[in-house]
Amino acid sequence: MSFVYVHVPFCKTICSYCDFVRCGYHQGLADKWLQAIQKEIKEKLRNEKITTLYLGGGTPTSLTIAQMEVLLECLGEYSADVEEYTVEANVESLDDSMLNLLAGYGVNRISLGVQSIDATLIKRMNRHHDKQMVIDTIQRIHHQGIHNISCDLIYGLPAQTPALWQEDLRVLCEQDIQHISLYALTIEEHSAFGREKVAAMEEDEEADFYEAAITYLQSQGFEQYEISNFARHKHYSKHNQAYWHYEDFIGIGCGASGKQKHARYDNTRNLETYLRQGPSPSYIALTSKDERFEMIMMGLRLTQGISLSKFSKRFGCELLSCYENAVQKNIRLGLLRMENGFIKATDKGLHVLNSVLLDFMEG
Ligand code: SF4
Repeated sequence: MSFVYVHVPFCKTICSYCDFVRCGYHQGLADKWLQAIQKEIKEKLRNEKITTLYLGGGTPTSLTIAQMEVLLECLGEYSADVEEYTVEANVESLDDSMLNLLAGYGVNRISLGVQSIDATLIKRMNRHHDKQMVIDTIQRIHHQGIHNISCDLIYGLPAQTPALWQEDLRVLCEQDIQHISLYALTIEEHSAFGREKVAAMEEDEEADFYEAAITYLQSQGFEQYEISNFARHKHYSKHNQAYWHYEDFIGIGCGASGKQKHARYDNTRNLETYLRQGPSPSYIALTSKDERFEMIMMGLRLTQGISLSKFSKRFGCELLSCYENAVQKNIRLGLLRMENGFIKATDKGLHVLNSVLLDFMEG
């Protein structure tokens, strides 16, 4: 069972908040990148049985149809058994021919970067869609036979009011989508917002946005299954669950990361280096202590929590004895609880997960 992430580093325009590994789309550069990534795909996936495949970015759909076809064709050699095949897309770059191509190659989930449907906020983010385009795109995705659709939304934007946020949530919940991911805006130094010295929203206000979203999404049939992810009818993201369950995964492409055999690797973030000499990964060896902590850090994000038996099977020690102080303290504070062989964050605990994790770090 392998979980594979492929990073496509191109975007047609750059969003004001973005500090990901990405660059402006250029056809010649994308052609060279395609050659390099095909080589990496063949090397890394040769003997893999892939369960989930996730094309993220950047904006995968910024590639031309011909380029996307080359990429999908190359991945096609390894994707016969894929259960969940996700492609990230921007609303404005997902036309019918692209959708038709994706569906033809077995893509069965689209993760749509919506972020907001408010015209002023969209402009402020330097994005290029409008509310009607979002609604139409969701319908067009269904029309191509892809019925598992996730949308991203951002809160904490400059000048975003609770009323605008509520409207974003309302309009999305009215659509036939199965999954919503929420992102709290962070002002990254190297983004346009960072350069403009945009002020981050106050913590309390941001917490109110988060709280309002949880309440509203739940009222609309979305189950909160992870701290920032919500699904209707159990359409959890299988790929992202692999991260939260702390499984190994394969990262392919400039800027991708992976984790295998007790080590994490980060491919080069520099496109020139990638084109010249391939992924050039740097490795970080993970000690058993690192892995125990990381499994807790990822697992407590899930509302289901962490299976105590899975933890002890994996590490040969009981979670409750390895982290006795952290567990007892946070249960006492009402931030963690035990249920049916799982340890999980309470609603209150999910809001302050970072401080809960600090206790585990010391454990
Ligand atoms: S947020 Fe996404 S679409 Fe926007 S520039 Fe960054 S990677 Fe590209």
